[in-house]
Amino acid sequence: MSVIATSNKIREILSKGPELQLMTGEQYKESLRDGRRVIDAQGNEVKDVVTHPSTKRSVENLAKVYDMQFDPSTRDITTFVSSQDGKRYSTGWLIPRTKEDLKLRREMLRLSTFHTFGVFGRPNDYGALMSMGMLSIIDKMEAENPEYAENVRRFVDFCQKHNVMSSDLVPDVQTDKNLPPDQKQGTLRIVEERPDGVVLCGAKPCGSVGVQGHFATISTATSPNLKADAAIWCAVPINSPGLTLVLRESTISPDYEFEDHPIDSFGEELDNMMIFDHVFVPREYLFSVGNFNLLGLYRESGALAHWHILSRLMYRAEIFMGAAQSIVDVLGTSSFQGVRDSVAEVISYHAALKAHILASEEEAENWNGLLVPSTDFLTAGRLHSIVHYPRVMHILRDLSGQGLISRFTSKAWDHPEIGPLLESYLPGAGVTAKEKNRFFNFIWDLACSSHSTRVALFENTNSTNAPVVQAELYRSYKRKEPVDHIRDYLNLPSTNLEVKKLYKHDLK
Ligand SMILES: Cc1cc2nc3c(=O)[nH]c(=O)nc-3n(C[C@H](O)[C@H](O)[C@H](O)COP(=O)(O)OP(=O)(O)OC[C@H]3O[C@@H](n4cnc5c(N)ncnc54)[C@H](O)[C@@H]3O)c2cc1C
Repeated sequence: MSVIATSNKIREILSKGPELQLMTGEQYKESLRDGRRVIDAQGNEVKDVVTHPSTKRSVENLAKVYDMQFDPSTRDITTFVSSQDGKRYSTGWLIPRTKEDLKLRREMLRLSTFHTFGVFGRPNDYGALMSMGMLSIIDKMEAENPEYAENVRRFVDFCQKHNVMSSDLVPDVQTDKNLPPDQKQGTLRIVEERPDGVVLCGAKPCGSVGVQGHFATISTATSPNLKADAAIWCAVPINSPGLTLVLRESTISPDYEFEDHPIDSFGEELDNMMIFDHVFVPREYLFSVGNFNLLGLYRESGALAHWHILSRLMYRAEIFMGAAQSIVDVLGTSSFQGVRDSVAEVISYHAALKAHILASEEEAENWNGLLVPSTDFLTAGRLHSIVHYPRVMHILRDLSGQGLISRFTSKAWDHPEIGPLLESYLPGAGVTAKEKNRFFNFIWDLACSSHSTRVALFENTNSTNAPVVQAELYRSYKRKEPVDHIRDYLNLPSTNLEVKKLYKHDLK
């Protein structure tokens, strides 16, 4: 299928549904049957991601969020009415221009986070924020090439009008850091420039939810040292000829049932490597080519995405708080002071993330007409969220005691002799043994399962890990005023607080 066919296919599907600019879950599923090339963990070609064992449950899960756009009880959260044409569009593609816009986007995020318990780090509304990030620095793109800047605006408009889901691809494939970028075979680069577009070879890693989306938006915002042929920002339809998505191994079994795995039975967003074998990207999807000013510009271009990442974790922290309290209630351990202290630690984690988000919105800045939450608070909040996440997981496990292993599968429970014994031996406080069993299956999925480890890895690393965020905080957090005050008070010479680069690959 050709690249243009992606938009044609989406248009055709939308034309058969209830609204021309919003997809139902069924339409979303149909839109993924577009000829994309996917290789599964067994090395087989995936014929249909909607029915394939490793992707079908997650596709189903994301489809439910599409359906929420038509449900009267969620419609005003998942969609907004455009002041320009009076039509309803997906909130995921609402360009945040006011605090109310940010708030609506957050309500949408809370809905999807509570729907998946936040284990989809890239829910339906996430991918749009990479494109919005480009809009927020559009002056820098305009300065390079007005045509490319216009492409960004057109792309956002197209995605908004067609309810598109996109994934973002920022880092380069991992290899020996000592090699110069142009000697790394895998670095995505332009191998041919044509009047109507460019041809790409190489790869991009870590495309979470790529296989379940329509487009990948690509940037080189964390790669300050690339050569001009690899400095590419663009959008690539997932079904582009020459593009292959290689899935990582699944962390969950396709046979899981709700009773045994209340979270994991709904699937996982898969991560994949995207391999480009002479993939043609038409000019209309090019956002920047060979612009060194954009390389390493992660804090600015990623600010809105970082706000989403931290907000989602804030809502997850709300869930962790509910989980911690429920463990204590189910086990009847709330009279121990040590137990209360542990729950209080989880509460404080939630409150800290909430404070960072609210402060970031309160001090949001207007960047090219978009309201961008303060990167000072986002960076500080991201650091806090990453550093304390493992501690929160530990507390959930610690509070649970043997509950995490004295839990048995439905099949064991169905055993005529064993089931009744389990029922009589293992009741909790105010819950039957079977209910307690289901509850600890939930905690297992949240804090112990293989899938939860992948999610922990995601939270730690998906938008650069703690040392990089720390370096960024040191570089960018405003603190000149108190420094000046102290120097003034003590009559010391003033300073301009210039932060020198430590490494050649420091971000901007
Ligand atoms: C589960 C998961 C999902 C992801 N999903 C996405 C996605 O959807 N989209 C996307 O764009 N990216 C995604 N990422 C990728 C993420 O952006 C990168 O992993 C991250 O930016 C780190 O880059 P790297 O993996 O290339 O680490 P490397 O550069 O290979 O570094 C390896 C380690 O070296 C250390 N290190 C490296 N540089 C520095 C430094 N400057 N200072 C101090 N220590 C350093 C750190 O410990 C780092 O983890 C995902 C990652 C994971 C794990």
